[in-house]
Amino acid sequence: MGDLVTLGQRIRHFRQEAGLTLDQVGEQVGTAASQLSLIENGRREPRVTLLGDIAKALGVTVPDLLDETPPSPRAALEIELDRLQRSALYARLGLPAVRPGRTLGDDVLEALVGLHRELVDRERRSIATPEEARRANTELRHRMREKNNYLPELEELAEDLVRSSGHVSGAITHREVGLMAKRLGFELVYVNDLPRSARSVTDLENGRIYLPPASIPGGHGLRSMALQAMAHRMLGHEVPETYADFLHQRLEINYFAAACLMPLTQSVAFLQQAKNDRNIAVEDFRDAFGVTHEAAALRFTNLATSHLDLQLHFLRVGDDGAVYKAYENDGLRLPVDVTGSTEGQPVCRKWSARVAFTRTNRTTEFYQYTDTPEGTFWESTQTGTGTGSEFSITVGVPFAQAKWFRGRETTQRQASTCPDPACCTLPDNELTGRWGGKVWTSARLHAHILSPLPSGTFPGVDDQEVYRFLEQHASDA
Ligand SMILES: [Zn+2]
Repeated sequence: MGDLVTLGQRIRHFRQEAGLTLDQVGEQVGTAASQLSLIENGRREPRVTLLGDIAKALGVTVPDLLDETPPSPRAALEIELDRLQRSALYARLGLPAVRPGRTLGDDVLEALVGLHRELVDRERRSIATPEEARRANTELRHRMREKNNYLPELEELAEDLVRSSGHVSGAITHREVGLMAKRLGFELVYVNDLPRSARSVTDLENGRIYLPPASIPGGHGLRSMALQAMAHRMLGHEVPETYADFLHQRLEINYFAAACLMPLTQSVAFLQQAKNDRNIAVEDFRDAFGVTHEAAALRFTNLATSHLDLQLHFLRVGDDGAVYKAYENDGLRLPVDVTGSTEGQPVCRKWSARVAFTRTNRTTEFYQYTDTPEGTFWESTQTGTGTGSEFSITVGVPFAQAKWFRGRETTQRQASTCPDPACCTLPDNELTGRWGGKVWTSARLHAHILSPLPSGTFPGVDDQEVYRFLEQHASDA
């Protein structure tokens, strides 16, 4: 059976055409008028025998009644209004459902349906599709490239905050991060039951920042997350309205946290000394400030061009060879898709970022010169293991700037002609001759690096969970 609302509309239509009242039809088919009314309003499904009786009483056939075309333009609007009012989207608004009875004018009905349609349309547009997410991400990368990945306003804010904690040099301690929070009027609280949609929750009323417990005691992740939570407050972030806003805020809080953990003045002094000694190494920078290799490499991209006069590239590549994060202002041609997006694209097998995976000793940085159509680059790669899979972190510079780095004496060299498919994509003639046409491989689905955000509240935060969480914890304050 099709739509009950359409069926009811058709029954009413034929009854009115026949000039019969509900009572008159009810009498003929042996059913109360109130039951017939429920059927006409689509609130009740008639039994097959009753449907036959109704058709007979109205002088039509059962197929006439079951036809799914709305009997009139007005009925079509009524049916659509009914369907729209029953949607989850409308239910979330907590507004009453309007019954499109005879007293509801055609113009009002048309206006209501029009507003509903627009609501659905806007909801659809507000959900960031993977394409939109990728576009926003690419735009942000281009904007940051123009700024050499350097944001002086955030550097200044971060330096002020770090100075206020009394920090002098080296790695920022958990205690110092706690003091910074206190200056902003917040207490840091570590809990096991943080809502799954949240990285941290800030209770503005009681001045508390809730964070997850450290997975690795003393790891830098916790300090970074606490600083990111504070950054939202210090930078006056509002609830983001678009995916681009969301990404921009994410970039700012990451930048701010990194600039606190590796403050400008100390970092530049450290790196400048290393440059003078012709001994720059991301691993040393990492160890001096007690952060991860990736954090140190990314921080290096903030400072290298503006303070050390170096152009460079950064790559985080998964063990499947796909780009997870990338930045360049040294002319390296990043692999991109037709939209200009680099995330998820495979990098050349001959680049250091992938060659490093083939090494057996991976405890130290791997160094390589890579010849490309855009010139020769010197690269330093460190591999690591994330949740279940391996990744590599690469920092590279044009050949002429290798002289400032530890590892420049490496004899490891590769020639890449990518994106030419003959470089490392196509199998060679021998292999093709041996296996061509003799194999069928079932492809693995690609993990989405940027998946769409869930619908509902943007950016996918579960408010109910968060409020319940706060209820529970505010009482133990
Ligand atoms: Zn290649």
